Amino acid sequence: MAAPNIETIVSLAKRRGFVFPASDIYGGLGSSWDYGPLGVELANNIKNSWWNWVVYERDDIEGLDSSIIQNRLVWKYSGHETTFSDPLADCRDCKTRLREDKLERNSDGKLVCSNCGSTDLTESRPFNLMFRTTIGAVSSDDDPAALAYLRPETAQGIFVNFKNVLDTSRRKLPFGIAQIGKAFRNEVTPGNFIFRTREFEQMEIEYFCRPDDAPRVHQEWLDAYDAWLETIGISSKNVVHYEQSAEELAHYSDRTVDFLYRFFPERQEEDKQFDELLGIANRTDYDLRVHSKKPENEEGKRINPDTTEDLSYFDPQTNERFYPYCIEPSIGVNRTLLAVLMEAYEERTNDKGEVRVILKLKPALAPIKVAVLPLAKNNESIVTMAKNLKRSLQPSMRAVYDDTGGIGKLYARQDEIGTPFCVTVDHESIVDNAVTVRDRDSWQQERVAVGDLEQFLRQRLY
Ligand code: ATP
Repeated sequence: MAAPNIETIVSLAKRRGFVFPASDIYGGLGSSWDYGPLGVELANNIKNSWWNWVVYERDDIEGLDSSIIQNRLVWKYSGHETTFSDPLADCRDCKTRLREDKLERNSDGKLVCSNCGSTDLTESRPFNLMFRTTIGAVSSDDDPAALAYLRPETAQGIFVNFKNVLDTSRRKLPFGIAQIGKAFRNEVTPGNFIFRTREFEQMEIEYFCRPDDAPRVHQEWLDAYDAWLETIGISSKNVVHYEQSAEELAHYSDRTVDFLYRFFPERQEEDKQFDELLGIANRTDYDLRVHSKKPENEEGKRINPDTTEDLSYFDPQTNERFYPYCIEPSIGVNRTLLAVLMEAYEERTNDKGEVRVILKLKPALAPIKVAVLPLAKNNESIVTMAKNLKRSLQPSMRAVYDDTGGIGKLYARQDEIGTPFCVTVDHESIVDNAVTVRDRDSWQQERVAVGDLEQFLRQRLY
């Protein structure tokens, strides 16, 4: 079972401290969200899981953390200044601003306003999605010399560092560069909770290879992501691959496959239940070429007269110099977190007929790995033993101590936030130096000697 809709997750997220509406005490801010005590842990665990997988467990990827604000020329030559836009139309009746490419058509083939159903819409016009800012103490806000952008993708920071990483790491093709970081897009129609926001986080890999090797590498990444999604608990039955058509492809892409997740299971028609979780594009040699000083146009003029570098690659085996192709798997942290929560959500009825929520998160992602609970909070020996246990477990796993309710309530609370194990210290524990370990998914309990506890938990968590 998974969550029946995003709303169920919104309410759980707010109730238990995963995600809160941003600036809530001032009425909120459109599509901005803050990650609370559990949300920040879950997001960090997703990012760590991804980083371990691509940077540590593989031998062909280096990490990077580039600036959010880059020289404006990066966005000029990448093409974002001229082409990073969505088609914007206005509804003349209800005045809503709409993303034209997301609208449905009526039986006459006319576009329909998603807010009021009117077909009286303006012609669409391109709306650039980059957030603008100014650098330094400028005299006027529209001073072009001070104009800068918040990055709309982390990828360009990787391309402009291609040579730095290549030279310092002494890599040979194929190899990749991975980066996690914030990206900003002034989306026309943000919404659906954290699915589409104006500030979000991406986990991107630019994987460089020989041009003739690109189709094989692309397929390898498609398979790799299928497998990784399973490891973080996203079931393949809720994921479909979508091959972008020639009209949909971005200007730099030769082929792009999107992985769509069933974010909207409540929708009647099955194909409307899915939307993008990640995309894997073959960006060809587009980006390295446009940031390089040597390439020329048909008239023999440099396409980039501003750059000081040439981002080509010399292959010592074949004695060839060329611009590598690049395969780019790009996934949002926030959409991953939403998919992980939806997938983990389960309701179960206990013997008293009460409905309980259980978040069956993979242990590696769970915000809290173990909760240590005293059976009697007024018994000093039990409380001291429980607190000491929490402290001794903490260096190797995120542990919490909680005595703010009866044991049934405490178990239910931990189930609802996905804590894989609860450890209960009872009267017997003082005598036999053992505790009861309760499993979140089976609700089974097992007596474990205190001396074996850490090992017992580690074996089941990692
Ligand atoms: P969409 O078609 O949904 O607007 P996109 O194709 O423009 O997405 P990409 O440019 O491929 O998105 O970005 C890579 C990933 O970054 C997406 O698959 C998604 O996970 C994430 N992402 C993109 N835009 C947003 C956003 N506004 N809010 C949250 N995550 C986003």
